[in-house]
Amino acid sequence: MSRPTLAQLEAGIVAGDRASLARGITLVESRRADDAEKAEELLQRLLPRSGGARRVGMSGVPGAGKSTLLEALGCRLLDRGHRVAILAVDPTSVASGGSILGDKTRMPRLAIDARAFVRPSPSARTPGGVARRTREAMILCEAAGYDVIFVETVGVGQGEVAVADMVDTFLAIFVSGAGDELQGIKRGILELVDVVAINKADGGGALRAKAAARELSGALRFQRPRHPAWHPRALAVSAQTGDGLDELWQLAEAHRDTLVRTGDLERQRAEQRGRWMWSLVEERVIGAVRDRVARDEALAGLEASVVRGEIWPARAARAIAAAAEG
Ligand code: GDP
Repeated sequence: MSRPTLAQLEAGIVAGDRASLARGITLVESRRADDAEKAEELLQRLLPRSGGARRVGMSGVPGAGKSTLLEALGCRLLDRGHRVAILAVDPTSVASGGSILGDKTRMPRLAIDARAFVRPSPSARTPGGVARRTREAMILCEAAGYDVIFVETVGVGQGEVAVADMVDTFLAIFVSGAGDELQGIKRGILELVDVVAINKADGGGALRAKAAARELSGALRFQRPRHPAWHPRALAVSAQTGDGLDELWQLAEAHRDTLVRTGDLERQRAEQRGRWMWSLVEERVIGAVRDRVARDEALAGLEASVVRGEIWPARAARAIAAAAEG
C-alpha cells in the first residue's frame, strides 16, 4: 500500500484504526526532516482530541512483574469497557543495543486484542533522551480513543524521571526480597511515586509482601508529598493470581480524582507541557549546533583538542556556543 496522505492518516487514527495509529507513531518517531513537518501537522490537528486519557506511568526493575501486571490489569480494564494502550520507554536500549521492553509477546493477550494497543519501545537508534517521542505517541493514542494509557519503563537510568514527567499517576512495582529489603528501590524513586505495588504477594511471599507494603506506606507518610492532598501509598498485589489488582487500580483512580478535584491535574499537565516544549527546544538547538560543528573544520578541531586534553572543555564550549549564535 502506498503511503497514506496526512488526511487519511488523521481519519484512520480518529476512527481508532490500529494500523493507522502505528503508522502515525512511526511518523512522529522518524528523524527525516520532511517527516518531522508532517508529524507536527498531524499532532497539531489531533491536539483537540487529546488529553482525555488516564495517563499512568509504571516502573520496575526487570523481573518485578511489569508485563504480567500490565497484562492482568489491562485485561480487567478492557472488560470494564476501557480501551488500553501500553507504550514502552526503554532506557537500556540506547546503551545495550537490545531492548528489554521491545517485545510484544510479553503481553500476549493484550497484543492480539483489538481494544488494546501495545507499542514496543523504539529501538537502539534513538539517542537524545530516553523518552524521545513517547509524549507524541501518547497524544496519538488519545486521539485514537484509548482512555487508559500506560507508559512503562525499566527502573534504571533516567527512565523514571522522564516517565513521571509525562503522566498523571506514577506507579512503581517492587518485590520484597528474601530478607526484609525491597528490591528495586533506588534513591529518588520514592519521591516520584504516587502509588506503589509490592508484587508477588502470593504463596510463600504473601505475608512478606503485605508487611513490606504496610511498612512502606508508613514511611511514605513522612515524606513531603508532591501534591498536598495525596500521600503515596503501597499495596501488596499478585499480578499472577490477580489479588489486589482491583484495589491497586482504585488507588490509582483515587490519586487522579484527587488531582482533578484540587485542580492539580491541570496544573501538572500545564507544567509538563512547558517542560516538554523546552526539551524540544533543547533538542533542536543542540542538533543545529552539532550540525554546525560537524560542518566547520575549526570548530570540529576544537572538539578534537578537548578530547586530546589540550583545551579546557569550558573554553571550547564557549567558543562553539559563540560561533553557533553568530
Ligand atoms: P518484568 O520484567 O517486570 O516485565 O517482569 P515479568 O512480568 O516478565 O515477570 C518476571 C517473572 O516474575 C516471570 O517469571 C513472572 O511469571 C513472575 N511473576 C510476575 N508477577 C508475579 C506474581 O505476582 N507472583 C509470582 N509468584 N510471580 C510473578
